[in-house]
Amino acid sequence: MRICIVCQKDMEGKPVVPIKEDAIIRTIRKVKQSLNMAQNNELCVCEADVPAHEKRRKEFERSLVLFGVLAAVVVVLLVATLLMSGRFDIFAFLSAIVIGLCILLFAILFKYAPALEQGPGEAKGKKPKLPKELEDIEKKEQPAPRAAKPAPGKRGR
Ligand SMILES: [Zn+2]
Repeated sequence: MRICIVCQKDMEGKPVVPIKEDAIIRTIRKVKQSLNMAQNNELCVCEADVPAHEKRRKEFERSLVLFGVLAAVVVVLLVATLLMSGRFDIFAFLSAIVIGLCILLFAILFKYAPALEQGPGEAKGKKPKLPKELEDIEKKEQPAPRAAKPAPGKRGR
């Protein structure tokens, strides 16, 4: 089945935008498979829900940055406290890192919204821009009118 992750409806045969299989999706799938809960549905967003989903995705990205900064601040504060108290040891340091990662994990668990394979904006006739060097090469490689003739002797039958 092809399930829209916003409205949870079966979208088989309807216009949808596929979502990117990222590390988080793969992890969730693996966990579900090991728990025998995998439904192996193909995940997507139906066209009607794309704006809603994009909003969620933006919120997720924003909260990830926010929680990333928060996690970094907490880890730095914890490590600084450890250093100043003179009780620095590797286990305390590692637990500070784990606490930071947990903060990030919270952001992912509660706000996660997968990226779309192709945003609706990108899908509509936006030309992929070539880097300048590539453009130059393309110009150079355009054959001169005379060179377009096939080389003698190489002609197939
Ligand atoms: Zn939907």
